[in-house]
Amino acid sequence: MDNAAVTALREAVRGTVTTADDPEYDEARMVRNGMIDRRPDVIVQPVNAGDVMTTVRFAGDNGLSVAVRGGGHSVPGFGTSDGGVVIDLAAMRGIRVDPMTHTARVSGGATWGDLNAATYPFGLATTGGIISTTGVGGLTLGGGIGYLARGLGLSLDNLLSADVITGDGSFHVASDKDDADLFWAIRGGGGNFGVVTSFEFRLSPVKDIYGGPMFFEVDRAGDLFRLFREFIADAPEAFGGFPAYQIAPPLPFIPEERHGKTHALFVACWAGDLNQGEKILKPFRDLAPVVAEHVGPMPYPALNSAFDALYPSGLRHYWKASFVRELTDDAIAAHVEHGSKVPELTSTMHIYPINGACHRVEPDSTAFAYRDANFATVIAGMWPDAKDDEANTAWVRDYYAAIAPHSEQGGYINFMAEDDQDRIRANYKGNYDRLAEIKRRYDPGNLFRHNQNIAPVAA
Ligand code: FAD
Repeated sequence: MDNAAVTALREAVRGTVTTADDPEYDEARMVRNGMIDRRPDVIVQPVNAGDVMTTVRFAGDNGLSVAVRGGGHSVPGFGTSDGGVVIDLAAMRGIRVDPMTHTARVSGGATWGDLNAATYPFGLATTGGIISTTGVGGLTLGGGIGYLARGLGLSLDNLLSADVITGDGSFHVASDKDDADLFWAIRGGGGNFGVVTSFEFRLSPVKDIYGGPMFFEVDRAGDLFRLFREFIADAPEAFGGFPAYQIAPPLPFIPEERHGKTHALFVACWAGDLNQGEKILKPFRDLAPVVAEHVGPMPYPALNSAFDALYPSGLRHYWKASFVRELTDDAIAAHVEHGSKVPELTSTMHIYPINGACHRVEPDSTAFAYRDANFATVIAGMWPDAKDDEANTAWVRDYYAAIAPHSEQGGYINFMAEDDQDRIRANYKGNYDRLAEIKRRYDPGNLFRHNQNIAPVAA
């Protein structure tokens, strides 16, 4: 790396510039997935859009790729790279809520915890993920599946505009009116098209919810999946939630003799009238005895952060995912066989519902094409110790192989591992060619290639 160029970059930006010569380098190059150990040439923590423009131009001038890091949760570790420049947006987390227009301006490095904390006092929210440490950036640009999705749509469906710095370092305010193609592409196309330094979201009235986790005996998992399948098909859209396999963690509300044992789990979120919460959940209570639960009224941010402690930074990750149109009995049988073998407290399988408001957007209105899928399934291997790499990755692979014949060809790009790059075209179905053409216009050199990559069509 040309030292004079790095010195000039340090002088040009207001944020920090870190290289292998700096003591902070080892910490700065790490992302959440503890299996990722990459060594970028330069790591920049910008503090404003100007810093980002300067850094993208620096990368282009020096023939370097750019890896963008929002919350750093990408399972394939796309927020860092071997060689090249990392733009780590962690110092850009400011948020402004406008309660008059029910909108929020969210800086590109904010997490969902940042956003929830800012909007909750106004009684407002938008769809985020299941935990609060994930970045608004990566989660939104790839889709955004969470508790509120059936009622409010995906996170990206609530995006009104975005400030984007594209491959030549130029600044664009992308919306339905301006740079409309770019705006279409970033809603599902991930980080392929540039660095988003600010998101403008539509907010909706959501404050306290009724919900939480309910643990059932593991041998009732099949019944739980069947009930969920029927129930969620026409449940009120303010209801979100998902069934899972989960080894019971040592939490105070779980009887001690249950700790460390595998259970069927249902996590509920009712964002409607709190007085109706108990009634809404009755079919699940009637299904089977609940062996442990933490269900009741609570602030939406409390549910959204309830699982944060289970997934600290540094866990090792290997995931596979698929979209599902019909949760057939055969698919459920495959879940029952493999889910019950979950090898680790922090490994899990979730089936998220993505019907309701998610279906009211046409498949070609945004880059996110799977508008006819009813579920997004993720088999999430997460474990602390390298000695368990083999057991956990094998569990994920075998489980996925068993459900794949009952699933769509594509899977959600945000849940996919690096070895799933051959499924990218399938993820976008008919939208892929348009994405590749837009990529050619905004990033012809594929500077932003550390993502589920869409190669630009040749000029
Ligand atoms: P990063 O690793 O920082 O970035 C991921 C990708 O997005 C990279 O390619 C990066 O370049 C790009 N990117 C990030 N920010 C920007 C930006 N501002 N501008 C341009 N590109 C950017 N997904 C869900 O939909 N729902 C969930 O409930 C959910 N739960 C999760 C729980 C855990 C424990 C984990 C590890 C992941 C979860 N995910 C969930 C998946 C999540 O959506 C992806 O991991 C997502 O990529 C995370 O975004 P990030 O900003 O934290 O990640």
